[in-house]
Amino acid sequence: MSTEKTEAEGTHFIHEIIEQNLADATHDTIVTRFPPEPNGCLHIGHAKAICLDFGTAEKYSGKCHLRFDDTNPTKEDIQYVEAIKEDIKWLGFDWGDNLFHASSYFDALYDYATQLIAKGLAYVCTLTPEEFKAYRGAPTSPGKHSPWRDRSIEENLDLFARMKAGEFEDGSYVVRAKIDMASPNLHMRDPAIYRIKHATHHSTGDAWCIYPMYDFAHCLSDSIEGITHSLCTLEFEVHRPLYDWFLEKLEVAKPQPRQIEFARLNLTYTVMSKRKLQELVETNLVVGWDDPRMPTLSGLRRRGYTPASIRALCDKVGITKFNSLSDVGLLEACVREDLNKTSARRMAVLDPVKVVITNFPEDGEETFPAINNPEDPDAGTRPVTLTREVFIERNDFMEEPPRKYFRLAPGKEVRLKYACYITCTDVIKDDAGEIQEIHCTWDPESRGANTPDGRKVKGTIHWVSVRDALWTEVRLYDRLFNHENPDGDKETDFKEYLNADSLEVRQCPVEPSLGVFEAGDRCQFERLGYFCADKDGEAGKPVFNRTVGLRDSWAKMQKK
Ligand code: ATP
Ligand code: MG
Repeated sequence: MSTEKTEAEGTHFIHEIIEQNLADATHDTIVTRFPPEPNGCLHIGHAKAICLDFGTAEKYSGKCHLRFDDTNPTKEDIQYVEAIKEDIKWLGFDWGDNLFHASSYFDALYDYATQLIAKGLAYVCTLTPEEFKAYRGAPTSPGKHSPWRDRSIEENLDLFARMKAGEFEDGSYVVRAKIDMASPNLHMRDPAIYRIKHATHHSTGDAWCIYPMYDFAHCLSDSIEGITHSLCTLEFEVHRPLYDWFLEKLEVAKPQPRQIEFARLNLTYTVMSKRKLQELVETNLVVGWDDPRMPTLSGLRRRGYTPASIRALCDKVGITKFNSLSDVGLLEACVREDLNKTSARRMAVLDPVKVVITNFPEDGEETFPAINNPEDPDAGTRPVTLTREVFIERNDFMEEPPRKYFRLAPGKEVRLKYACYITCTDVIKDDAGEIQEIHCTWDPESRGANTPDGRKVKGTIHWVSVRDALWTEVRLYDRLFNHENPDGDKETDFKEYLNADSLEVRQCPVEPSLGVFEAGDRCQFERLGYFCADKDGEAGKPVFNRTVGLRDSWAKMQKK
């Protein structure tokens, strides 16, 4: 089954640390968390973090919390909360009772900030955002102390209370941790921990007009929830001293959570940033977050990707400390491998040309069993009916074939899959020289594609009866970007690398048995690739999305 997990995740440095912590009894239960910010839909990069966070908890019989990191009311939206939950479930993970929101810790976080102030370790600063930046200095030169750094504890406590009470404008005051303005790590130069934002929050409403900053909220949320290992991507490595500083100064319960960083997933021909994906959605360059060309989990799902194939990719890429760009071909190989095992085969013709079998009775028909899935003997067969006229692919015929062309050509014999042998006798063209019909004869002795008198043919082609064909919309998707690293060059807008041919819509004849397909149903169109019924289809009139071709034709095309 494609929804089942394959194998336990491979081991890596994070699991080694955890095993050490279990062995020396630092922890007896492992608790991880996946902390999405509800400001966009999840993408396949998030899937890597989800597989690691939930997979680690599963491996060590621990727990993984789903925590919405909802501390920024102006960028977030409740619609993303539900979409994120759906995507995590679809990937095959379950947070059980462990659903949390950073916003439910606003009271606790306010108290923690008050404690820091009371300890003389935080102050209310009145520098403007521009001054704040200028005072911070550069990595190579120390920053300057804010003139407000030595406000008295009483004054700081009073100002912080008044910030909370809504007395001040946005941006007029911030609370800053008092650490070290000369630290080589800019994050340690008195970072802001609370700011004023008169904005309605999607769960706390207007209760607050001050909101905690990520670095302050995250480590303390981890601590409040009893997280043992807080796994995040490498860009947070430089924030780790700050993560530890807050927990140490605030004397939280021991053992305190430990942040461990790993490399994010990047794929070739893909942008993997919510902000950029949002830009594509907002400028209508794609039809939505679930556009089948998007690397979002909802887009991949609609495209026909299986959860197992995405988990397999995450396993293959592995967990390391080095950022790298993985080949999107690896993801495509994962889905091919999974779908090959699980998909029913059907016949469809993407670029039809008509074949007339001239010695076949006008209203005759012959029905044959067609194998549903050669990889799965239990999948059985279905009937396919041959009639006098059938569609074949235009490129399965060549008038002047090169040597070793085993498909149809004048005088050549091929097998119509599951049906019979046909031999080309004539080609009918229009005035422009375009082929209108290919005339053939069949050998009735080859019924059921048996080999009469031991005569063998090398070519087998797929077909669809003209009389019985169901005409459906087929959406041929290709990569959204035509550059290997659309996000790699800071000078060029990633949108300039959009592939203008990433979608081609066709009306195609398909086997009538496909009429029952509903949104999400998948199959292999024989010899063409894997396809998935789209939500835009109707009963009896499915629309198909191409998930992926059978082979990596892109790699070959690029070399030309
Ligand atoms: P983006 O950078 O795409 O905007 P984000 O980091 O802002 O994403 P969050 O919702 O904050 O998105 O991320 C939730 C978790 O997913 C974080 O722990 C983050 O480290 C992880 N994550 C985000 N992108 C990737 C990625 N490409 N590979 C692995 N993990 C990722
Ligand atoms: Mg983030």
